[in-house]
Amino acid sequence: MKLDNIRLVLMETSHPGNIGGCARAMKNMSLERLYLVNPLYFPDPDADARAVGAIDVLERAVVCASLQEAVQDCAVVVGTSARHNRRIGNLVLDPKACAERIALESEAAQVALVFGREHSGLSNEELGLCNYLLTIPCNEAFSSLNLAAALQVVCYELFMQTRRTDTDSQATPQGELATGHEMDLFYQHMEQALVDVEFIKAKNPRKTMRRLRRLYNRAQLEKMELAILRGIFNAMQKLADRGR
Ligand code: SAH
Repeated sequence: MKLDNIRLVLMETSHPGNIGGCARAMKNMSLERLYLVNPLYFPDPDADARAVGAIDVLERAVVCASLQEAVQDCAVVVGTSARHNRRIGNLVLDPKACAERIALESEAAQVALVFGREHSGLSNEELGLCNYLLTIPCNEAFSSLNLAAALQVVCYELFMQTRRTDTDSQATPQGELATGHEMDLFYQHMEQALVDVEFIKAKNPRKTMRRLRRLYNRAQLEKMELAILRGIFNAMQKLADRGR
């Protein structure tokens, strides 16, 4: 996920306060690239007031004359809408699914997320320029969020996706994984060590060993980690031996 490659596009926003609110919501989530297509009032003191500490995002905002112009260099365009027109037939994603999908795409290409007008959203023609649609699931009887509130939810999920990618890479094994044969020897060693310290009975190790197998199989042990654990078993066995 590369947040620098993601731009937020606001179509013909009529309340400048909303533009400021969006700038603030973006910066809170480390997104800084704001595009404004024909804003009714911009720059405007109300936009500055609502942006609070995100005036720099407003100052760097790119003002365009059309949606085509705002997304011309983008490989992926996502339209956001409270209700979706089935006739258009785009894939409809929720914010988290959308963040997952554009995580890879944003690494190498420009991505745009497009937000509609306060009163009328995005036109069918504009939705037709989009590769996907994003809808925030909510109360069906009252599904239209304030523009900046909708943008906040979307940006939050984009930001969360960057954190998921980071923790995923921490959880991903760094070294070579133990083979099935090494795991077999590991379980035999573990079982013997647990018998030696009298944690399980030689005659009936079944249930505990099955549970331990599940636990260690889930962990995807690397060769080095397996060696450490076998070292611990050796130490346990040595101590048990001395006790006898
Ligand atoms: N009256 C308009 C709603 C506009 S709300 C309509 O019925 O289409 C302004 C913008 O906020 C929308 O165009 C969309 O970009 C975003 N938005 C509001 N609610 C949303 C929701 N539930 N899911 C996705 N985007 C939403």
